[in-house]
Amino acid sequence: MHKDIATPIRTKEILKKYGFSFKKSLGQNFLIDPNVLRNIVSHADLTKDSAAIEVGPGIGALTEHLAREAGKVVSFEIDQRLLPVLEDTLSPYDNIDVIHSDILKADVATVIAEKLSDYKDIVVVANLPYYVTTPILMKLLMEGLSIRAMVVMMQKEVADRISAKPSTKAYGSLSIAVQYYMRAEVVMSVPNTVFMPQPNVDSAVLRLTRHEQPPVVVKDEKFFFQITKAAFSQRRKTLLNNLQSQLPLGKSRKEEILTALASIDIDPRRRGETLSIEEFGKLADVLLPIFK
Ligand code: SAM
Repeated sequence: MHKDIATPIRTKEILKKYGFSFKKSLGQNFLIDPNVLRNIVSHADLTKDSAAIEVGPGIGALTEHLAREAGKVVSFEIDQRLLPVLEDTLSPYDNIDVIHSDILKADVATVIAEKLSDYKDIVVVANLPYYVTTPILMKLLMEGLSIRAMVVMMQKEVADRISAKPSTKAYGSLSIAVQYYMRAEVVMSVPNTVFMPQPNVDSAVLRLTRHEQPPVVVKDEKFFFQITKAAFSQRRKTLLNNLQSQLPLGKSRKEEILTALASIDIDPRRRGETLSIEEFGKLADVLLPIFK
């Protein structure tokens, strides 16, 4: 086994060798603790029959741990300055492809088809750049990719919001947007001391696992997301008030909305944050004929 990249000494050596300076604007906080990396990777349940997709390899700290456990690793890195570094640090491994690309612009489906067609089990594992956590997750979730799970480090507050249950402060349209696709759980809290440089927010690892059965099957997905956003637009208002003020012509549809709510046994005085994802599904389906 090769010497770990993610020790403070080796990381400093690598940074010095390449004269690398961190770009805060790219969310560059590198992991420098091999135990934390092993722990993250253990939550992905990888075998040599699995492929891992990584966003932002940095200098390869997590990438090499993935390469040891998975059959193949594909990593997307936006920062061109890191390419020669990765070429060097990852040279002991022959099962890693680094792609120089902004993950938000990458055609991930084509990359999977071209590079990972031998793998049925595909998992995303990443220490995400925090400034784009939500767009990255939503892109990977909404593109219909054949991904079993995602094990992703992010700001703790975002991990809490994504995994939140109804009637909690953290529960909102982001919880529903993600939980619609995958089951969400926080599996690790991570101290700031394991990063270089240390971020000034707390971090956590979120595990998302694809539902075997979706929690709701809705008639119109776009409308379902529109309804959840509307219901949370002003958290202190009732569901009825938010629906009326947020949906086009909502004010003039009060009676129809009330009848629709009664038909699925939802009290119009409830707040959006008390509704489960299943209730939002029913709500979207009964409101659809009124607004579409
Ligand atoms: N995986 C490394 C580690 O754990 O030490 C680095 C993680 S660091 C938090 C985030 C990495 O994502 C950086 O290498 C950064 O350059 C890269 N990155 C930032 N924005 C990106 C984007 N839009 N697409 C791909 N990579 C990005």
